[in-house]
Amino acid sequence: MDFAFTKEQLLFKKEVIQFAKKEIVPRVREHDLKGEFDFESFRKMGDFGILGLHFPEELGGQGADVITTVLAGEALGEAGVDGGLTLAYGAHTFLCADTIFRHATDAQRRKYIPKLASGEWIGCMGLSEPDAGSDVASMRTVAEKRGDTYVLNGTKMWITNGPIADVAVVYAKTNPEAQHAGISAFIVEKGTPGFSAGPPLIKMGVRTSHTSELIFQDCVLPAENLLGKEGEGFLMAMQTVEWDRSALLAPFVGSATYLLKKCAQYAKGRVQFGRPIGQFQAIKHKLADIRIFGEAARALVYRIAWCKDQGRPLNHLEAAVAKLFVGDWSLKPTNDAVVLHGGYGYTHEFDVERIFRDSRLAPIGGGTSEVQKMIISKLM
Ligand SMILES: Cc1cc2nc3c(=O)[nH]c(=O)nc-3n(C[C@H](O)[C@H](O)[C@H](O)COP(=O)(O)OP(=O)(O)OC[C@H]3O[C@@H](n4cnc5c(N)ncnc54)[C@H](O)[C@@H]3O)c2cc1C
Repeated sequence: MDFAFTKEQLLFKKEVIQFAKKEIVPRVREHDLKGEFDFESFRKMGDFGILGLHFPEELGGQGADVITTVLAGEALGEAGVDGGLTLAYGAHTFLCADTIFRHATDAQRRKYIPKLASGEWIGCMGLSEPDAGSDVASMRTVAEKRGDTYVLNGTKMWITNGPIADVAVVYAKTNPEAQHAGISAFIVEKGTPGFSAGPPLIKMGVRTSHTSELIFQDCVLPAENLLGKEGEGFLMAMQTVEWDRSALLAPFVGSATYLLKKCAQYAKGRVQFGRPIGQFQAIKHKLADIRIFGEAARALVYRIAWCKDQGRPLNHLEAAVAKLFVGDWSLKPTNDAVVLHGGYGYTHEFDVERIFRDSRLAPIGGGTSEVQKMIISKLM
């Protein structure tokens, strides 16, 4: 068992951190306060190569392995990039582009992947619905085959990048009588008649990512926009959510390192009762707890990356464990960081307040902690 990164991987991580600190982080606070998506940073991530890292070079990617891809996500978090932008990147690259890459025809790959890898187009993925979240198989969006078209009707909910996306991967029932086996996946482009997105929802955290409904009213799609075969959608979605439970978690791992540095710095400088608060055992323990969370989360998240690099198509148990751990246990260190900063921790002055709000999504998005425990208890 080899826990070491290669020299190239470590160098790449350093480069991503430098890039993000220079090009993205200076605007994070402003965008978070305004609840605005940072289009400029997103495009710069495309130019740098982050959006298409694991796609082949001929499709505009870098041909990177999954570990290097996860390393990029960790680096963004470590540099101090906010959870909104890293979520937007994750939904774009892994939930949308990767699904197209794996299941589309060659022509569709050539049409969509280079645009998505460069950031010229923004992608999203619509699985959840207003009445079907944890129980996605009960979705009501239908795709009815009519000649050489499909007609979509229904509403998707909570869709990251929904209001700004140029292309969406959308799940709908081609056989409404069936549960899992009746679900199929489609590519839907912005501007398709009958397809619209709702206004951005106002959220507690990840405020720089835009989240909305996707609405389908007699939306007619060419039959070739079906991804894979009819009825394969649920399996595709399950492969996709594994990214939710690996690469999308990587920024939380990096964020723990960022948080630790911020907290240690503050604990050294803040003097109470005649000495730096970092000399009090209660504060030292909080710092130790942040470190412990970061170490454990890193091991679990990279294990999934490793499994994927080994070519294992489905890693449900490992992914559910990683998702559950990062989701539930990130709440303590982020809360501790606010507490450690006293009154300042409750303000925008230091980033800990934003990180605390952003981390609150971890036990919800991509499947709640209760659902992960259900999966773990079923599979173990
Ligand atoms: C900011 C944000 C971004 C998102 N981005 C996307 C996206 O890009 N694409 C997308 O498709 N979806 C997205 N989602 C949706 C997300 O995946 C769902 O919110 C999540 O799966 C939970 O579904 P729900 O909100 O309908 O909650 P529900 O399923 O209604 O759950 C409500 C509560 O009941 C619990 N519960 C449900 N079933 C069980 C059970 N069997 N046993 C025990 N407890 C249970 C849940 O754990 C939860 O606590 C996003 C959500 C948010 C908040």
